[in-house]
Amino acid sequence: MEGSCPAACNAPQTCPGPGASALFFTTLISSLLQSERELADNQMYPMDASNFMLDEYDFIVVGAGTAGSVIASRISEVPQYKVLVIEAGGDPPFLSNIPAMYPSLQKSEMDWQYKPSHKIKTARGW
Ligand SMILES: Cc1cc2nc3c(=O)[nH]c(=O)nc-3n(C[C@H](O)[C@H](O)[C@H](O)COP(=O)(O)OP(=O)(O)OC[C@H]3O[C@@H](n4cnc5c(N)ncnc54)[C@H](O)[C@@H]3O)c2cc1C
Repeated sequence: MEGSCPAACNAPQTCPGPGASALFFTTLISSLLQSERELADNQMYPMDASNFMLDEYDFIVVGAGTAGSVIASRISEVPQYKVLVIEAGGDPPFLSNIPAMYPSLQKSEMDWQYKPSHKIKTARGW
């Protein structure tokens, strides 16, 4: 950002960088561009199949989050296995695709609103 330094500043290495707001803006634009297809496609999440239940399944995966989705996908590669995935939540809102927008989801219906209890030996890296 040398070009953006004021004239009186002759030490570019000490000039402040673009700052958090510029970084946030760049991330937002980048995410919007990357999510263009998802914005136009309201069929990107699996349909609710609760009206098509079978009598029995070989595997029931509870939770279609990061781990559950991968596990269900891999098990489903075996054609003869019947796999049921149960997910408590609905389709996530678009803002959930933008990591920097996570604060906007706090205390919303997307938030389980669990609070951690105080533990002396956890989260010490923060
Ligand atoms: C704001 C934020 C940003 C993050 N960013 C990153 C990142 O950039 N990179 C990274 O690697 N990790 C990131 N993480 C961490 C990552 O999201 C988690 O570690 C990961 O999603 C955990 O996967 P999981 O399958 O254990 O749980 P989850 O992905 O949370 O999946 C659990 C699923 O189970 C469902 N569920 C819960 N209870 C029930 C029930 N009773 N019945 C049915 N379904 C149920 C939930 O709705 C949820 O869909 C981030 C986490 C947060 C909160």
